Amino acid sequence: MKFKRIVIEKIKSAKKGFALTGAGISAPSGIPTFRGENGFWKDKDPRELASLEGFEKNPERVWDWYNERRSIIRKTKPNPAHYALTEMEDSFEQFAIITQNIDNLHEEAGSRNVIELHGNIFRNKCSECGKLFNDIEQLEIPRCDECGGLIRPDVVWFGEALPKEVLQRAIQWSELSDICIVIGTSAMVQPASSLPLFARENGAFVLEINKNKTVISSYANETILGQAETILPELSKIGI
Ligand code: NAD
Ligand code: ZN
Repeated sequence: MKFKRIVIEKIKSAKKGFALTGAGISAPSGIPTFRGENGFWKDKDPRELASLEGFEKNPERVWDWYNERRSIIRKTKPNPAHYALTEMEDSFEQFAIITQNIDNLHEEAGSRNVIELHGNIFRNKCSECGKLFNDIEQLEIPRCDECGGLIRPDVVWFGEALPKEVLQRAIQWSELSDICIVIGTSAMVQPASSLPLFARENGAFVLEINKNKTVISSYANETILGQAETILPELSKIGI
């Protein structure tokens, strides 16, 4: 693959960079995106299930849906796009992966500096007192051993705020990076979708990789249209 000279120069000269990833980077691993054309969740509305209202209305339905998603994700493996980002971590002086994904695949690929904006599907917490619990594989919705509250996945649901400290770290990377690589996100979810804009406003080169154009394409310095799993392994070789 032939990259534009500006892309090569920016990757080579950048000292500090971050990647913002979305569901598209895990699609080649077999994890359905929410807004994908295959409509995997067509009979279920993620907005209704992945929300506090949905949980309060029908916790069993939400727990079942997460059981289903956990079992899909458990069978998957990182793909070449995840591994390429792990390599990039070594070729930059400072590199972070800021992900909207909850699937743990960046960590499984060996990336060390991963900021999980929306939590992790294999972690749980008490919906009442917030006590954290590890992966729980059970059909029945469990209860907290401290307060008896219902246990829920430790992920950020629609309408919920991001953990303050996590968001602060992500904003700091956006403000101080030389390059921001946005991969496989439709950029419809705030505040994650603002991070590339902060980066751009603070002088970073914004490079987008996506199958389709998104709102980010309108201000990105470059958009490369195509599959992340073929483009990223090529891109990661530039920095070496
Ligand atoms: P999205 O589903 O809204 O968008 C996916 C984007 O990826 C699209 O723009 C699509 O064009 C692009 N894409 C798909 N396959 C690609 C490929 N092979 N190469 C390059 N680009 C590709 O995803 P989002 O923006 O991340 O928002 C969805 C929200 O739902 C997020 O908050 C995320 O936490 C959650 N979610 C997570 C997972 C996961 O953890 N794997 C899966 C589904 C949804
Ligand atoms: Zn509790």
